[in-house]
Amino acid sequence: MLITKGVKGAQDVLPCAVHKNQFIESSMLDIAKKFGYTEIRVPVFEHTELFQRGVGGTTDIVQKEMYTFNDKGGRSVTLRPEGTAGAVRAFLEHGLFNEPLPQKLCYIISCYRYEKPQAGRLREFHQFGAECLGTDSPAADAEVISLVCAVFDFLDVQNLDLQINSIGCPECRKTYHAALLAYFDVKKDGLCPTCLDRLGRNPMRLLDCKSPVCSEIAKDAPVILDYICGECAEHFGGVKRYLDAMGIEYNINPKIVRGLDYYTRTVFEFISGEIGAQDAVCAGGRYDGLAQELGGQRTPSLGFALGLERLLLLMDAQKTPFPEPDRCDIYIAPVGDEASLAAARIVNDLRLSGVAAQFDLAGRSVKAQMKYADKLGAVYTAVLGDSELEKGVLPVKNMDSGDVTEIKLEDFAEDFMDMSVRSSADMFKELLNTVDIDINTILGGALS
Ligand code: ATP
Ligand code: MG
Repeated sequence: MLITKGVKGAQDVLPCAVHKNQFIESSMLDIAKKFGYTEIRVPVFEHTELFQRGVGGTTDIVQKEMYTFNDKGGRSVTLRPEGTAGAVRAFLEHGLFNEPLPQKLCYIISCYRYEKPQAGRLREFHQFGAECLGTDSPAADAEVISLVCAVFDFLDVQNLDLQINSIGCPECRKTYHAALLAYFDVKKDGLCPTCLDRLGRNPMRLLDCKSPVCSEIAKDAPVILDYICGECAEHFGGVKRYLDAMGIEYNINPKIVRGLDYYTRTVFEFISGEIGAQDAVCAGGRYDGLAQELGGQRTPSLGFALGLERLLLLMDAQKTPFPEPDRCDIYIAPVGDEASLAAARIVNDLRLSGVAAQFDLAGRSVKAQMKYADKLGAVYTAVLGDSELEKGVLPVKNMDSGDVTEIKLEDFAEDFMDMSVRSSADMFKELLNTVDIDINTILGGALS
């Protein structure tokens, strides 16, 4: 085993790319906050039974994919394969159901599933998720979906197909399961081994088998929407009315069933045609029975999870622009030991004032330092040697314009900040001149 090679299916995010993750993650949390969702942080592992009960014994996740081990105390724990079970566990454990409902929670987490790694499918991956706990109003379903839409809209992600369905309640599903079993039973010789195995346990899963043979067999299978009870149909109608009211476009896809046992009524996926076979960027739905299943009171709820790696794949495919990573504001290149000490003091003062400042830590030549400053994208650079120390003045060069400004060493941090603010204002004015816009026009006449 090569110890400098990471575990299969787990990814590193390198410094050159991390600004993308930081941007999407902070955008997601900001947008969720506007929708009234507060972050919850729960442990990366839970008692194995939580997922067995919460995600469900008939699911692929529990049957095949969990990272489960006994800790040194002999207790079986599992690295979370998803976020909902842990969030609902915390909601029940800490009595959040006594707070005003619905409780709106969100999170960005790592998840672990032992799956076959491929594009868009990892063993460690990340999700942005949100849960709206304690309401059965269809308005909540539409709000949760609209939160996902707002995130895609803000990030400028295009061409996602929102597909929705209702899988009814356990009552209407009984008749539906019977109809599905009857339909597939006569055709079972053609099914793949996985579907054959699922037939007895979770016949709805046969509808989303990716094998072309099974999809062909499932083509004319009974449709859940023909079987759901009056109340579930009314609820689904409500969800559609709210989505229409919000101007959110969707397609109804009766084949969407979701893999997790806890789902009831509304289920949805955001599908992309641009990232290959693992095409669900976001998936979610209602889980009205989960809290009760975990030993709490009935708490109708819903949520979603959006896979960050799949989102990044899609944004790369669409060449979505990201804000540039922050540049280094100023690089100071000292020459000699005394200059190095002076540079250390100045850089420290600058940093305490909020400026991104750097200086040489490697004893490099001025030429090598300038190359390094260029790599950092430093906006300003300055070479600090004996003569600058003697005069008490440091010439600072703006690397974009080439302008040089002399700044006194004594109050360097303060004077540097004044100078750079002035110079940015000048640049802004110049920019306005070139496009011939009056500042008052931009401010809507606020200055007059
Ligand atoms: P799929 O079968 O399409 O991988 P799923 O039904 O197992 O998805 P969920 O449990 O609903 O997925 O997870 C929600 C989202 O998390 C998915 O839409 C996807 O974006 C992401 N996701 C799930 N599993 C993985 C994985 N192994 N690697 C990367 N992302 C994943
Ligand atoms: Mg899966």
